[in-house]
Amino acid sequence: MGFKAKARKKRDAAAAKAGTDNKIKEEYVGETKCDVAGCSNWADKKIGGRRKAYEWAVDVWGDNGISNDSRRVTLCKTHYKVGKKHKKDDPDAWS
Ligand SMILES: [Zn+2]
Repeated sequence: MGFKAKARKKRDAAAAKAGTDNKIKEEYVGETKCDVAGCSNWADKKIGGRRKAYEWAVDVWGDNGISNDSRRVTLCKTHYKVGKKHKKDDPDAWS
């Protein structure tokens, strides 16, 4: 590899690193996504996300409304509130 190619490679790596740093500053990047279909919010615990039983979520959004079919679903803050309200309006759902 010639000197110029090496220099270019080094510069690209530095640019990629800088780009990553900028993205973190611009927008929050979480680890867990909300499992409600069509929702692209982050559902990390530190920003208000919750983990609930699959049945809990299906009762609110139905089978097709949940994009994850594992026993636990992750909800963003907004959808957790929606679910909680739904349960409140229908006290039988708690039993
Ligand atoms: Zn959501």
